[in-house]
Amino acid sequence: MSQLEIKNLHVSVEGKPILKGVNLTVRQGEIHAIMGPNGTGKSTLAYTLMGHPAYEVTEGEALFKGQNILELSPDERSRLGLFLAFQYPVAIPGVTLANFLRTALNARRKALNPDDKGISIPEFRRLLKEKMDLLQMPHDFAGRYLNDGFSGGEKKRAEVLQLATLQPEIAILDETDSGLDIDALRIVSEGVNALAGPDLGVIVITHYQRILNYIKPDYVHVMLDGRIVESGGADLAQRLEAHGYDWLREKYAEPAASR
Ligand code: ADP
Ligand code: MG
Repeated sequence: MSQLEIKNLHVSVEGKPILKGVNLTVRQGEIHAIMGPNGTGKSTLAYTLMGHPAYEVTEGEALFKGQNILELSPDERSRLGLFLAFQYPVAIPGVTLANFLRTALNARRKALNPDDKGISIPEFRRLLKEKMDLLQMPHDFAGRYLNDGFSGGEKKRAEVLQLATLQPEIAILDETDSGLDIDALRIVSEGVNALAGPDLGVIVITHYQRILNYIKPDYVHVMLDGRIVESGGADLAQRLEAHGYDWLREKYAEPAASR
């Protein structure tokens, strides 16, 4: 059973402290939602966990499989079994989604077993077909160039297909609901639900409560000003939908002098 244990994480961007002591443990099999108003550091947490160079860790650690992943390169983190769905995925014209997925899968297999010779093409085709069926995707989707001319919804589907194929142990999905129409949101959520299970831990980062109508989190956390200030069950998301974030801001407001 793998778990990601974030301990007292402090992160600065361009010298400005953004995360100010984040503590969070996510185990395989659990779905956690991190919510909070814009600008509170949710994406900073996601980017830091995947090793974006602009985010400087000034204190704390993130332990996964006995290693502090903050000391590893992004591809080492990925090969270890972490997955991050980016808020703004990049296009790679000339590389099909299928080729991209097979290359990424082989890198992950080789990390698990250095003698691995890579998945055979027929075996990979079978795997891809199985996952596309699970996610109700047309099979020709995998032949398209990665994110090239993809609609917002298609980019999200491509990410969910990556998630399905790479089978990470912990996945971090940032604002997966932004820019999605309600049907695409439903498809992505159903995909995550189809993949959720004892082997997958998920952190869903969102500004909106509405994705949580489709993905049922076991735990909900609220981030305010670089810290997780409140944690609870799915009912906490309902309370936020009804009452907004102001009651939490009042409860956790820092005295002006200490800023
Ligand atoms: P959220 O995802 O909760 O909306 P972010 O983590 O994106 O919040 O941003 C938190 C704060 O960090 C904001 O004040 C934002 O301007 C700042 N920030 C985040 N990333 C960068 C960056 N790459 N360069 C400069 N400032 C950044
Ligand atoms: Mg964000």
